Amino acid sequence: MSYDHKQIENKWQRRWADARVAHVDVTTEGDELYMLNMFPYPSGDLHVGHGRNYILGDALYRHLRMTGKKALNPMGWDAFGLPAENAAIKRGVHPGEWTRSNIDREKKQFERWGILYDWSREIASCHPGYYRWNQWLFLEMYERGLAYRAEAPVNWCPGCQTVLANEQVLEGACERCGSEVAQKQLSQWFFRITDYADRLDSGLDSLEHWPEKVRTMQRNWIGKSRGADVEFPVPSTGGSIRIYTTRPDTLYGATFMVVAPEHPDVPALIEGSSDREEIESWIRDVTNQSQLDRISEAGGKEGTFTGRFAINPFSGDEMPIWLGNFVLPQYGTGAIMSVPAHDQRDFEFAKKYDLPIRVVIRPAGEELDAAELEEAWVGEGTAVDSPVIDGMKTAEAIPAMIAEIEKRGIGEGKVRYRLRDWLISRQRYWGTPIPMIYCDDCGLVPVPKDDLPVELPSDVPFTGREGNPLARHESFVAVDCPECGGAGRRETDTMDTFVDSSWYWARYLSPRDETRIFDSDLVNRWLPVDQYIGGIEHAILHLLYARFICRVLHDMGLVTFEEPFARLFNQGMITKEGYRDPSRNNQWVPLDDVELRDGSAWRKGSGEPLVADVTKMSKSRFNVVAPDELIERYGADTERVYTLFIAPPEKEAAWSDEGVVGAARFLRRVWNLTEEVESLPEGTDDAAGTDALVRKTHQTIDAVTRRLERFEMNTAISALMELSNAIGDYAKTGARPRALESLEVLLKLLHPFAPHVTEELWERLGHQRMLIDELWPVADEALMAEESLKIAVQVNGKLRGEVEVPAGIEESRLFSVAETDERVARHLEGKSIIKRIHVPGRLVNLVVK
Ligand SMILES: [Zn+2]
Ligand SMILES: [Zn+2]
Repeated sequence: MSYDHKQIENKWQRRWADARVAHVDVTTEGDELYMLNMFPYPSGDLHVGHGRNYILGDALYRHLRMTGKKALNPMGWDAFGLPAENAAIKRGVHPGEWTRSNIDREKKQFERWGILYDWSREIASCHPGYYRWNQWLFLEMYERGLAYRAEAPVNWCPGCQTVLANEQVLEGACERCGSEVAQKQLSQWFFRITDYADRLDSGLDSLEHWPEKVRTMQRNWIGKSRGADVEFPVPSTGGSIRIYTTRPDTLYGATFMVVAPEHPDVPALIEGSSDREEIESWIRDVTNQSQLDRISEAGGKEGTFTGRFAINPFSGDEMPIWLGNFVLPQYGTGAIMSVPAHDQRDFEFAKKYDLPIRVVIRPAGEELDAAELEEAWVGEGTAVDSPVIDGMKTAEAIPAMIAEIEKRGIGEGKVRYRLRDWLISRQRYWGTPIPMIYCDDCGLVPVPKDDLPVELPSDVPFTGREGNPLARHESFVAVDCPECGGAGRRETDTMDTFVDSSWYWARYLSPRDETRIFDSDLVNRWLPVDQYIGGIEHAILHLLYARFICRVLHDMGLVTFEEPFARLFNQGMITKEGYRDPSRNNQWVPLDDVELRDGSAWRKGSGEPLVADVTKMSKSRFNVVAPDELIERYGADTERVYTLFIAPPEKEAAWSDEGVVGAARFLRRVWNLTEEVESLPEGTDDAAGTDALVRKTHQTIDAVTRRLERFEMNTAISALMELSNAIGDYAKTGARPRALESLEVLLKLLHPFAPHVTEELWERLGHQRMLIDELWPVADEALMAEESLKIAVQVNGKLRGEVEVPAGIEESRLFSVAETDERVARHLEGKSIIKRIHVPGRLVNLVVK
């Protein structure tokens, strides 16, 4: 029999679906485990890079299920968003229709990869049965003061015709379409995430099973800092300007002040100034710059003098008040004290505009001279020329200054956050309508909860004209005011799609519930999610918003936990080479026009040399590997094994077509091996090599189990390749019973990676029950043990002890056994090991000092 992957894969996909193997009754007790892959945006074209995420999750799910876990693995669709609307404009197809057909395609793709989800729990965020609960949550948050409307400067993408979150602006351009982002003042809806800044920051400490990198990114985003607010009197206005500083110990060195052009005191400051018109025109220019440009390292720091002064409350000096483009109104107090001697940005600004510099910190063993400084001294040191704290070290000087500020009543110690409130308004159609009504008499009126959902009208023309199509839909906009019955107007903003994904993880437990957002009892039993899997691109926003909303739900009494995801794994990207043509502006070249010869790439026809570039897969770079062709040719099992074998799953990995062939060869080898084993003579099981095979088998069970649970899928597969070789060697001379036993173990261990072919072979071996329903093998420690060896241990060349270790022990493990041996340890006390020497099979020598 030959390995007919098409027939086999179709057969088992049907069997699993018919048997509803992934279906979980969440109401009955069991050893519950909640696995979750981030739900995808249904763009309609999944490539092998996307596949990595889902294949990884499925391998882990199958393994956990076989270990006896009652594992829940649901899937749904993050189905609102801009591409659907852009497709509507471009192709005249309704966003809903476009989305639904993409969902169908992607679902089919999941099936073809052999991925098992509990489809009875499928959700789609664009379904009114789902988004009505976004609206309900919004109203609950509105009642609690956590949703509010405010005028705010926003990033406006002229291409997408919508507001963008700061995170969607990359180097001043729209993340999605690349248009240059402009600033606009608009009335917007916000979620008050800043109320939770401290809890979101401190909660990160408990997430020990999250990648450190993600925790750091979140911590930086929240940006907690400690310092002080201080009032600086401004004689000309009779008032004062409040600044925030994390270095109150440098207050005596503050020689000027910089205020955001948007600061509310600016009009009063420039009132009556002879330069007023010039200053106002400068302000207009700055407020048109994107905020990211204003604060970027590269961007020029520009300022203009207001002609007014503040008084440094400590030095008593007059400080010129400047306006600066790099001071943003929403950070800190919108005004800063400038200490050019001890802050590099202030130093550069002072040099540029010839402002005074005053040294107030002396680094250890160094004398700073303000006139000679070439850059700011930003480190710690001893306070000088600062009467209140003279002679104190920085760590001591900061609290002493805060105490003095508070004593004088000119400010107080303060913790501040970089995190801003979450702007959730979008001026687009394809999202959840914000359930609010404007009434001339009653003002802002929430839609009564009984009237939810506020459904999106479907009869909307998509013209691509400016603004939101909803705003031009008269019967949507016109509504009776729920309070006075008069004529009202609906809010036409829709919600950021990150709202949809901020709580979907709870909805899977009761996806069709029409009476409440979710079933709290079930959610509290199954959550937090035991294992969450998704891309690193969600390290900040999605995960932060989900953690925020989880806390809101906690405070509403709906969930008992504050962190929705106990473990997080971020898979790496899959890359592939594409080709650029340097003679044509480095354009990407379609593969059909590329000719590979002599290890280089050339443009067909013209013969121009091309440059190969390994990057993220993208249609526009012609380097996408579509799963369809691959599965057609080699089968889904081959794609799965290759995808997991290519590299450690958290690392970026370059796709190689030759590598795929290797994975296919391995599966064919397992196929042939089964035939070989079946044809072996019955014999007895004391043939030569039996012990070695048993040992290898148990070692492999142990290795694969541990590696799977640590996401080391690539090395788990290597261990399986070794085991298949060992069985093959044994089969040359051995007997059937032992070979069969090891082969069955191999099939079970290989099942999470190559589920179809292993099911098929399992059935051929005469089993009635499906392999997915079998129990995961358990390694027997006694059978795993290698013959042991005695190794002499020397310290500085003198024999100090002897240890007994298994043959084939890893070197690092051997060293640690040797160093902890009682007799040896005595000679290591108080010394440090500078070198470890290992003569395999004989001795270890530890060189100490
Ligand atoms: Zn855009
Ligand atoms: Zn009214």
